[in-house]
Amino acid sequence: MVITSINPATLEKNGEVQETPLEALAGIFKAARDAQRLWREIPTAKRARIVVAANESLADRMEELCLLISRETGKPPLEALSSEVYGAMDSTFYYYNIAEKVLDHKEDIDLGFYNSLDKTSFLIYKPVGVVSIIGPYNYPFAIPFSQIVQSIMAGNAVVFKPSSDVVLVGKEIQAVFDAIPSLPRGLVQTVYGSGSVIGDAMVGAGNRVIFTGSTETGKAIMRKASETLTPVCLELGGKSEMIVLPDANLHRAALAARWGCFTNSGQVCSSVKRLYLHESIAGPFVAELVELTRQLKQGNPLEGNVDVGAMINEFQMNKVLKAIEGAKSEGAEVLCGGRRNPSFKGYFVEPTILGNCTNGMGCVQREIFGPVLPVITFKSEDEAIEMANDNQFGLTSSIWTEDHEKGVRLGKRLETGTVMVNEVVYTFALAQTPWGGPKHSGIGRTHGKLGFMEVVDPFHVHVDKYKEPDGWWMPYDASFVELMENFKIIAKSLIVRD
Ligand code: NAD
Repeated sequence: MVITSINPATLEKNGEVQETPLEALAGIFKAARDAQRLWREIPTAKRARIVVAANESLADRMEELCLLISRETGKPPLEALSSEVYGAMDSTFYYYNIAEKVLDHKEDIDLGFYNSLDKTSFLIYKPVGVVSIIGPYNYPFAIPFSQIVQSIMAGNAVVFKPSSDVVLVGKEIQAVFDAIPSLPRGLVQTVYGSGSVIGDAMVGAGNRVIFTGSTETGKAIMRKASETLTPVCLELGGKSEMIVLPDANLHRAALAARWGCFTNSGQVCSSVKRLYLHESIAGPFVAELVELTRQLKQGNPLEGNVDVGAMINEFQMNKVLKAIEGAKSEGAEVLCGGRRNPSFKGYFVEPTILGNCTNGMGCVQREIFGPVLPVITFKSEDEAIEMANDNQFGLTSSIWTEDHEKGVRLGKRLETGTVMVNEVVYTFALAQTPWGGPKHSGIGRTHGKLGFMEVVDPFHVHVDKYKEPDGWWMPYDASFVELMENFKIIAKSLIVRD
């Protein structure tokens, strides 16, 4: 069976790859385990130095890679550069710089009373083994690439499956790691196939799963992982809110809302997907935003300067068009866009702003993974926070105000993994900061130091330098009774009194 890659902007065929037979998976995971046993013995600094060589081949192939990403996803090549290839290189370089410090960190543990008995403990980190990485279609390069880099720098092997919409980008990722001299064969392997067959089989086959995709699939993966108690890191859906207070820099906020909602045709987990405006500024703000949105140039991203490209496939496009119809039937007013762009053959949805929305509507509550922005007004800060938190997702949020302290204070009340004051979306590109959020947005964190922690196990080492038998060992004779009397005295000293 082959998987065919289609350009969603032109509907032309990009190419194809051979599906990985399910029967091959056991051998692939065995090869990964074998490679990992050798790899984990290499010191961290040396491993990181080997892996950062990926940036050399990326630097040589940057432009062709961006064109391929554009052809396979429908996004503008410059967006592929800014948010995918540049981001991957930047994070690889950053992880190279911090790998040894984070992964070889040894923490001596103060054992309190037991220190007096010459007992010592320390904590280190060990690679987990083989990491199954299952990727989404929307950032097919940057997301899995940096997850692979962190996993292998930490001493693991990786089996990676790209989404079937972006198999050629998956193949390029494999090529980048294949080109690294000194990387053991089998350490990074890419498999191709459907989520329900190949993806499902990957879940229990390794020692950890890093999954990025929809909440629905994340739940299926967690159910499956429970059979083998395989730990999961789940980066799932979002419904990121942008709250604009009256004292914000309103022009900058309107430009941010436009970029935050329509970049990558709205197919970003942390896209601005709910816009909350204070009632005193809502009228002029919406007027400016609609005007700005009408100025966006949509089209085939490979033909001239285009702001908004195509959506990934017909199924996703139809889901978004259905959600717009649903919003209309609930009383939302289409202020701009609202339909498939009739000028093109491909899967283009016009950038859409929905007015007259209230917090309970489906278009405000559910993730619409496309260029659609519902607008809601609020009367007070408390009301804005309450409405924002009244949602199943919790990935990112933003508060817009010139009073930065107030922004932080209010922001801390939001139930998300990240709050940005006067910014949207882009912290995903920061390798230094953690990524992920609570509620239905997932479990665990990728990126930064916490991202490394997802692919290692804490390992506790205890060394006893005491020469005598421990007092609590058998037999339970008179000296044991005496020791327990001492324990009673010590126990009474463990009470906290004000
Ligand atoms: P998806 O869940 O449809 O697919 C993601 C991957 O999971 C694909 O590779 C797919 O083949 C695989 N898969 C499907 N069923 C599976 C199963 N039963 N077992 C194992 N694997 C399976 O998601 P998508 O449409 O590619 O991506 C869009 C979604 O991803 C949106 O909800 C978006 O918010 C989310 N997303 C989240 C983040 C984040 O960092 N939180 C980033 C990007 C995308």
